[in-house]
Amino acid sequence: MTSPSSADVIGRLVRVRDELLRWFGRHGRRFPWRGEVGWYGVLVAEFMLVRTRSEVAERAFREFMLEFPEPEALCSSSPQRVLDHFRKLGLPSRAERLIGTVCAVLERYGGEIPCDYGELRRLPGVGDYIARVLLSRVCGKHAAFADSNVVRILSRFSGRLLNGSEAARILEEAFTGRDLLSINVALIDLGSKVCGPRSPRCPGCPLREGCFSRLG
Ligand code: SF4
Repeated sequence: MTSPSSADVIGRLVRVRDELLRWFGRHGRRFPWRGEVGWYGVLVAEFMLVRTRSEVAERAFREFMLEFPEPEALCSSSPQRVLDHFRKLGLPSRAERLIGTVCAVLERYGGEIPCDYGELRRLPGVGDYIARVLLSRVCGKHAAFADSNVVRILSRFSGRLLNGSEAARILEEAFTGRDLLSINVALIDLGSKVCGPRSPRCPGCPLREGCFSRLG
């Protein structure tokens, strides 16, 4: 069997858009970093979310933001205090990288995040995924970010084994404006609640009508 074309996958995705957004409205998760937390809050959250369940990161995020509510507070603090927060998550190396990134934004850009992919990638600690998150969530640019949830769902949905760049490209071609960010975040939550790594719960999935791999 030939694998479905990108045009076919995009067409199917567009057809399940409304169902997915309805599901997200009812079941989407409400994390503090999904509110108006600016570039600093988004960066702190993303550094904490690496290999950490969102529910665990949520508590750590709240505690961290209480102690370091602004980037200036972080950059003038003792690195040891920052390290203590990340040790609790088992991510000690992330503390130094977060400090390097945040302080570089203050020093090089006067505290304004640069809304340019190349500039973002030149910040220490900012890889492709975090650059895309910042472009989308902080800069309002047309950019998608594909974590392991999004890659897994879109691979199953499309019937092709995708990597992160391919999954992001499919989303960027299928959706525009605010829709893109809403769909992106909805897929992250769907991967956590419905289309998990081991046992997808297809009968309750809002994507089932278009999904190549649906079960039942
Ligand atoms: S229908 Fe099943 S395999 Fe397809 S996206 Fe939904 S849960 Fe995953």
